[in-house]
Amino acid sequence: PKRLEGKVAIITGGASGIGAATAKLFVKHGAKVIIADVQDALGHSLCKTLSTNTPIHYLHCDVTSESDIKNVVEAAITKYGKLDIMYNNAGISGDSNKAVVTSGNENFKRVFEVNVYGAFLGAKHAARFMVPAKRGVILFTSSVASLLGGETTHAYAVSKHAVVGLMKNLCVELGEHGIRVNCVCPGGIPTPMLNKALKMNKKETQEVLCKVAVLKGTVLEAEDIATAALFLCSDEAKFVSGVNLVLDGGYSTT
Ligand code: NAD
Repeated sequence: PKRLEGKVAIITGGASGIGAATAKLFVKHGAKVIIADVQDALGHSLCKTLSTNTPIHYLHCDVTSESDIKNVVEAAITKYGKLDIMYNNAGISGDSNKAVVTSGNENFKRVFEVNVYGAFLGAKHAARFMVPAKRGVILFTSSVASLLGGETTHAYAVSKHAVVGLMKNLCVELGEHGIRVNCVCPGGIPTPMLNKALKMNKKETQEVLCKVAVLKGTVLEAEDIATAALFLCSDEAKFVSGVNLVLDGGYSTT
């Protein structure tokens, strides 16, 4: 059965990696999807390949621009008359320098701007329509970096802790209006973002991830996060709110 039949969803960072895998799965499950990203060529070609009966569109949207975010949310309302799902997934890892003494201040600000401020703007503008509608789902992509201290750079770790804080705060505030708010919390996946952060190709990244994995015999893929997102955004999860759903094969327990 189609688990998102008739739902309208916006996915930021939907042109690549986790967002693209989620867009594909949501469309398969009957959702009308708008992909919002800054990689225009990739976003358009993804929409073309998903030639189904369910509409999927790409819109240019830098999540750090309030007018871009506003435009995407209003496009969903104009086109479909509602917004059921806002998945604030866009994110960057920033510079890979882990030393606080030498790391760049501009890098810190940019990582925070995209990962936290961008997520805040997405939630804010979605809520403008979800509150009066008295329904909706807001989802964020955090990271195991939201649970651990030393895994990543401080800029990235702080940003993902903040995303979880934002999720919890909005869960309480918006619960009153029937809106559910959650995070998916992935472990490492060899997407362009992580490959770039580690300065490795996909295969090399995967090898590193396999070495440190707790759960052996399988690997985490973007499609696994999409499956979790599908659950959290569907009505099956109707009483699930305030959750940072960890998909890391047990990594963060060590
Ligand atoms: P990705 O690089 O494949 O996808 C990220 C997408 O976000 C890209 O398409 C990029 O263009 C877009 N993006 C970046 N800045 C943007 C902006 N300002 N406005 C709009 N779009 C923007 O990487 P991914 O791994 O799929 O990342 C998706 C999310 O998953 C991120 O929030 C990331 O932090 C998180 N995450 C990734 C991993 C991992 O190991 N890959 C682990 C945990 C969490």
